[in-house]
Amino acid sequence: MTATCKSAAKKPSKGQSLRGDLAPERITAILKGLDEAYPDAKCALTHRSPWELLVATILSAQCTDVRVNMVTPELFRRFPTPQAMAKATLDQIEEIIRSTGFFHNKAKSIQGAARKLITDFGGEVPQTLVELTTLPGAARKTANVVLGVCFGKAEGVVVDTHVFRIARRLGLAKGDTPQKIEQELMRILPQNRWIGFSHQIIDHGRKVCDARKPKCDSCNLEQLCHSEDKT
Ligand code: SF4
Repeated sequence: MTATCKSAAKKPSKGQSLRGDLAPERITAILKGLDEAYPDAKCALTHRSPWELLVATILSAQCTDVRVNMVTPELFRRFPTPQAMAKATLDQIEEIIRSTGFFHNKAKSIQGAARKLITDFGGEVPQTLVELTTLPGAARKTANVVLGVCFGKAEGVVVDTHVFRIARRLGLAKGDTPQKIEQELMRILPQNRWIGFSHQIIDHGRKVCDARKPKCDSCNLEQLCHSEDKT
């Protein structure tokens, strides 16, 4: 999950009324459109446990999920548990995750998260946002991914680069940081949609609402979208 947002941080389109855009019936129509287009949207990071998803999500910063999925089988074959990862050297971790980019920092985060899980949480991935964000490398986005996907807990909304861009294009939010966008989305979306909404929007961003060339002709939200990025 890439998290670069600057390139997508355009202002909402001219004359766009955020108030009108946030009418409950419009939001309901957008959610319905997402359900129709992406009924089976789910996390694309391969994982078998909360621990594996935590690590995969840390690796996904500034990297595609496809690339992460290429390195995690070997990483978890060599270091299947937090206990094993805590004993791994940084060199050993870096060698495996190098292709995901920023591998020095990511190796430190993964090793540090493994060690903190052991010292503070009995070797288990915690199930609250507050606890998860104490782990090295785990900010709100990572914590929200793990909580939503593994534990079905909606404490926040995952805002990656797709959610950041498309929430603005659809006029659902206007903030210029992922944190602000998340707070806006939490205010307007029903809480029972917080987890699924992000998965659906990420699918929409990958398949239709591309950052540079959105395929508006084949977008089922086109009638609801006033973005100046429309093609
Ligand atoms: S109409 Fe175009 S810009 Fe708007 S959501 Fe659809 S693909 Fe994205």
